[in-house]
Amino acid sequence: MVEGQIAIEEYRTGITKHHWDLKKIQSAHKVLASYLYKKGEVNRGYANRTLYVNLSTGIIQEKPVTDDMKKKFTGGRGFGLKLLWDSIKPTTRWNSEENELLITTGPLCGTTQYAGSGKSLCLSISPSTNIICDCNVGGFFGPYLKFAGFDALELQGKAREDVVVVIDGEKGIVSIEAAPLEEINTHLLSEQLTQMYATENTDKSRQKVSIVSSGLAAQHSYWGCLNFSFYDIRRKVPRIKQAGRGGLGTVLRDKKIKALVVKVGRFDGVSNHPADPITLAKVGIKLHREIRNLDRYQCNMRAVGTGHLVEIMDAYDLLPTENYRFGSFPKASKIYSPKFYELFTKIIPDGCWHGCTMACAKTVDGYTVMTGPYKGEKVTVDGPEYETIGACSNMSIWDPLWILEFNFYCDTYGIDTISAGTAIAFYMEMYEYGILNKERCSGLELCFGNADAALELLHRIAQGDTSEFIQVAARGARRVKDWIIQKNWGEKQLVEDTGMESKGLEFSEYVTKESLAMQGGYGLTLKGPQHDEAWLIFMDMVNNAIPTFQMKAEALHYYPMWRTWFGLNGLCKLPWNDIEPANNAETAEPSKVPEHVQNYVEYQNAMTGWNVTKEDLILQSERCYNWQRAMNVWMGRGQRKDDWIPFRAMGPVTEMEYLSRKERYDTQLLEKLRKSPKDVEKMTVREKLTILYEFRRGQYNKLADAVYYRRGWTPNGIPTPQKMRQLGFTDKKMLKMLQDKIDADEKNGLNLWGGTYAKEEQPPSNQKRYWETWK
Ligand code: SF4
Repeated sequence: MVEGQIAIEEYRTGITKHHWDLKKIQSAHKVLASYLYKKGEVNRGYANRTLYVNLSTGIIQEKPVTDDMKKKFTGGRGFGLKLLWDSIKPTTRWNSEENELLITTGPLCGTTQYAGSGKSLCLSISPSTNIICDCNVGGFFGPYLKFAGFDALELQGKAREDVVVVIDGEKGIVSIEAAPLEEINTHLLSEQLTQMYATENTDKSRQKVSIVSSGLAAQHSYWGCLNFSFYDIRRKVPRIKQAGRGGLGTVLRDKKIKALVVKVGRFDGVSNHPADPITLAKVGIKLHREIRNLDRYQCNMRAVGTGHLVEIMDAYDLLPTENYRFGSFPKASKIYSPKFYELFTKIIPDGCWHGCTMACAKTVDGYTVMTGPYKGEKVTVDGPEYETIGACSNMSIWDPLWILEFNFYCDTYGIDTISAGTAIAFYMEMYEYGILNKERCSGLELCFGNADAALELLHRIAQGDTSEFIQVAARGARRVKDWIIQKNWGEKQLVEDTGMESKGLEFSEYVTKESLAMQGGYGLTLKGPQHDEAWLIFMDMVNNAIPTFQMKAEALHYYPMWRTWFGLNGLCKLPWNDIEPANNAETAEPSKVPEHVQNYVEYQNAMTGWNVTKEDLILQSERCYNWQRAMNVWMGRGQRKDDWIPFRAMGPVTEMEYLSRKERYDTQLLEKLRKSPKDVEKMTVREKLTILYEFRRGQYNKLADAVYYRRGWTPNGIPTPQKMRQLGFTDKKMLKMLQDKIDADEKNGLNLWGGTYAKEEQPPSNQKRYWETWK
């Protein structure tokens, strides 16, 4: 037993000991708009309509889902992009009236026979990047939204006062209700609303309610996350999963939405009405068996969740430490997964949707809060997952209890742990160099490892503290970089190279210095640096399985498309490759887990009645991926310059970093840059850094060339009209916009490869405007 914790058997009362007068809170609700709808049935995975709610005008209406929409956009993230394209302008910003927040499902979402089938997709224009950000998230909201009658929820406009939007799938009513008295922080609000909207005072009824909320800090920062609840019948607690990246919780609060509530009546394993339930059940059972028999010998997700990655990352020099300066640390063993295993409540199934035998949503119950407004209270902490632990190692915080504290407050305040951790780690490095100090940080001593100061920063953001540093810091690494440069407090290059963001979004928690493919995975992507293809690090760096630019480009085509496919269908990616069939290593392409890919082919066919192949699955994703890139271009952010990453992601920035891995870098100067041992010996560390810097920048540019070509884009990263037509798109507005951008690039001399090629090397194509001959 860890000091400060209580045994689970003593813990019977849900998250908190608060007692609320729920009748009073509910009677303060005023219905501002409502809409009666005819309840329908889901057929072959689709509800066949979406729900539109305008907070400004009170208009609530249904929109049909057409066969053409299914064919071109499949569902989930694809539907979100299509609805956004129809509703926003290229000049729309995150806080514009017409910006939308979308929650979408996919045709496979809500299945209970196949592990990992309960994901919702959330999309909006992000305050961090001012382009579309998409996030997937567990919890019950997505499946319930579909069973309530809708494939997607589209929220536009802004309410004048705090509201909840309620979708009552039992009665067939959607309402916008003024909600003045509820809490805002998630752990309290989700408890209040779950109780309030449950049809009866029973756990079974509470389980049929799901809440989306954020928290106090979301309204004062750009890191706002969305918390999706799922009522845990054993713990008697509404637990939460996060759509963390890009500040979608900030958009929720900007629209003055306190929460979204969905409730359903009866639902069961075949509520999706699959075309072929027998095949679906067969494929699902096969995977369940695999997980049960093999997980303990592979990732051990059922015991420790994604936290098992910490020790692996540390061993391979990939665990971000002190703002990605290092990839391992002497104290790292203090936060290895066994430390969290001690804290997790055991023997309770931990799936974030029914039927997920992977059950990786681990939880610490009865955690005693150490700081802030809830100090001394006992709460349930959902997590920590690997990324949250990595965010803390990045700040050099090595105490599991402080990691839980950070995890709890980020969640309840509605803050993304990754963005906050990565940004604060950068502020800490600036503090170490004296570029920031106590005075410039509004009294905070933000040195590496100062967990107290990191928590204090979160509390002050949540309180709406108006001091200059807190205001800027809450907007993330990009704004702090600009602020420091504008104040002239530090060397511009150092600040740009060490603030770990790209497109305005903070990096997630992997050190990419030695994996060019993963640098591409972070930079040559749509929404910003997210760990969507983190396994590329192992293929590239550890196994050296993709040595050439062409091979890396192929990997950066296939894997992002494959990863996208989960988001089109409402699926969790983890049961694809965090569990593998026993004979997977003997297959031709083990990294693709071919047997599982075939499962998904059969699964989608069994649900929809289609007859797709594994190539069709990639094509479904390619359509969505290119459409999203084209929308980035439309919004002025989809070119090569937008795909750049800070140098810390490519290599060592400071002399200390170089010296910490001197043998590795010296060897690279000898082998990759063909310097003589004499030259290397004579060079100063600064000179070596400069040479390495140029070399790695060049490599990244060549990688971008190869990737753009493979994806069917111009050398400046624009999807071509020819490629879009090949994918089946005929939207004239979209095709003309892309052609105009390409013509403008031509005039400005931007249709040129970015890499510098030696005589013996070739760019991806020697033909100018190579895409024009594509049929
Ligand atoms: S694998 Fe984990 S995150 Fe994915 S659905 Fe299952 S419990 Fe949720």
